[in-house]
Amino acid sequence: MRIIITGGAGFLGRHLCERMLSLGHEVLCADNLLTGRNSNIEECEQNPSFHFVRQDVTAPLRIEGPIDAVVHMACPASPPDYLKFPIQTLEVGTIGTRNMLTLALAKEARFLLTSTSEVYGDPKISPQREDYWGYVNPIGPRSVYDEAKRASEALAMAFHRRYGVDSRIARIFNTYGPWMRANDGRVISNFIMQALQGKELTIYGDGSQTRSFCYASDLVDGLVRLLMADSDSGETSSQSKEWGIHYPVNLGNPREQKIVDIARIVREMTGSSSQTRFHPLPADDPKIRCPDITRARRLLGWEPKVRLEEGLASTISYFRTYYCVLKIR
Ligand code: UDP
Repeated sequence: MRIIITGGAGFLGRHLCERMLSLGHEVLCADNLLTGRNSNIEECEQNPSFHFVRQDVTAPLRIEGPIDAVVHMACPASPPDYLKFPIQTLEVGTIGTRNMLTLALAKEARFLLTSTSEVYGDPKISPQREDYWGYVNPIGPRSVYDEAKRASEALAMAFHRRYGVDSRIARIFNTYGPWMRANDGRVISNFIMQALQGKELTIYGDGSQTRSFCYASDLVDGLVRLLMADSDSGETSSQSKEWGIHYPVNLGNPREQKIVDIARIVREMTGSSSQTRFHPLPADDPKIRCPDITRARRLLGWEPKVRLEEGLASTISYFRTYYCVLKIR
């Protein structure tokens, strides 16, 4: 396949580019490097099947030749990033998604949107199933991300219904692993870096809020399965009430953890004597988050395999080498 991956120089984008190359596909990575990094794709660039184009996907994009799949991942994804780039976040979710769907339509390519568990906002049910509509503040500071992704999903469904685009939507829950930016502000990278540097671990609120953490390689397995699934998967008959492959699929690890417990585990695993300090909870920070992955299990035969302790060990070792030993910024 010849695949375009927007946001391919980001944390998850890099993992997906690498996986697609290892499966023998040709990868065109489009990224404006607003939050992505050149260093993420240095290894991919050694492969002749990888091509990088520095491109803001909210601007028209011309690609010569056939394209089999468009994977639209581009978007600032960590809360400090999207709070710093609110307009770009909204634009990449709306204008950028429209551009990529138009490209998929023109090339008769499959389209995969990487959406987010943030579409559920501060959910009132747990675990979250795909047919839950969410509880989102449309004007709060996080709305730039939540509503951009909700608009992206609406666009994908509209292009599917109106023009028959073979679209798929992954709702990605918290994911971690090597190649996260040390300073991207997310909880796992913050805690590991703080613990390794002997700084206080910053717990927002009382730390009783929950998240469910999926290791990057597991998540990428799910994305590849969703992209490659037959377009009639899940639609057993025309009368079937079951949602087909074009409807959202949660991808995440259902093991739910309190943030205070994550702080304790990271301190134990790094052997750090760092203290913890409580800070105010950011506005609209969801209190709970846990995916129901029944659909992913049934449609894709997918579920995460990497245990939290195992994934954290690899991530800690990555941060130790790349940031603390090599002192890369
Ligand atoms: N959080 C924290 N300390 C930090 C960073 C984050 O306690 O240094 C909390 C944050 O308030 C949220 C959870 O950890 O409740 C996950 O935050 P993250 O930014 O990783 O992702 P989110 O799920 O909010 O998008």
